[in-house]
Amino acid sequence: MLDFKLTQQQSEDQPGVDVGQEDRVYDLIIIGGGPAGLTAAIYAGRAALKAVVLAGSLPGGQVANTELVENFPGFPKGIGGPDLAQRVHQQAKKFVADVVQEGVREVDFAAYPRHVRTSSGTYRGRTVIIATGTFPRRLGIRGESEFFGRGVSTCATCDGFFYKDRRVVVVGGGDSAVEEGLFLTKFARQVVVIHRRDELRASPILQERAFANPKMRFVWDTVAEEILGDQTVNGVRVRNVKTGEISTIETDGVFVYIGLIPATKVFKGQVDLDANGYVITDQRQRTNVPGVFAAGDVQNPDFRQAVVAAGSGAVAAMAASRSLPEIRLAMEEKARERAPAT
Ligand code: NAP
Repeated sequence: MLDFKLTQQQSEDQPGVDVGQEDRVYDLIIIGGGPAGLTAAIYAGRAALKAVVLAGSLPGGQVANTELVENFPGFPKGIGGPDLAQRVHQQAKKFVADVVQEGVREVDFAAYPRHVRTSSGTYRGRTVIIATGTFPRRLGIRGESEFFGRGVSTCATCDGFFYKDRRVVVVGGGDSAVEEGLFLTKFARQVVVIHRRDELRASPILQERAFANPKMRFVWDTVAEEILGDQTVNGVRVRNVKTGEISTIETDGVFVYIGLIPATKVFKGQVDLDANGYVITDQRQRTNVPGVFAAGDVQNPDFRQAVVAAGSGAVAAMAASRSLPEIRLAMEEKARERAPAT
């Protein structure tokens, strides 16, 4: 995985934590360390912007939890998700020295420059790119939280190894459920996919692979109602949504892949979000707040792909760079307004 020793050290004495000093104002603050944020950093560095990346506590983004990425251009044999994340991180560090492992607690986009607060202090930026991505949706059923980490997981890449020759259940019917289910067949003796409908949402190529895999079994029209266990998980109580029949599937683990939630809690009330909490942007990745942009999954519920995230990160950084002269002028004007008349 990513080696953040260096960046952690830097975070102890990194600049940007002092609200009072003008030289600690960044041209660009990038919030998020996945493909969108790190690609934005590469473009920001090449545009000679003074930038900082607040990469969060688990940098790399969703892609770092993916075993194999087959659809990122330039890797004809595919590339491991952690490897891709590591490479993009290295490339970003080449252009932006300040890639720090800090999460954002609060933002103030009414302030000029924009304020972004982390545990270490306040960063101030003339422009900001929100690239915080998404996190896995939970089922919200009994036993899920209780057994999380003791048989319930949202990361097959992290936990699959523990299920060697055991039985696992995957809940969901999208690309993640099927792809991660296939990955789990490398370890588990059986992978049962529980899906609430009678057809998968996953892409045809993944469906084809899954249906051809003798270790994969599908339970259709079924929802999980409770995760059962003692010290660890030993079953899932399920209900057939068509017949109402309740039954129990014996299993050693439950992997939940029922979609993603945008990580936008701290931006509520600061930028316009849609009904599902995604940041609303235009074609130039602009939000409704001047100088504040968004890129990657956090603003794109429809095409959540590493390559799309990277592309939107590049657009956001270029757009931020181009907006700077205008932002600087506006800031100077504001400063003049505030200055006492002589
Ligand atoms: P997704 O596409 O939103 O699929 C979520 C799945 O979970 C759907 O099948 C949905 O059922 C089901 N679901 C949602 N809420 C549920 C609930 N409360 N109980 C039971 N089932 C529920 O999410 P995803 O699979 O995580 O994929 C997210 C995005 O990443 C997608 O855009 C996907 O294409 C992309 N992705 C791509 C790849 C790849 O290209 N290799 C790999 C992984 C992910 P319904 O179908 O009935 O709605």
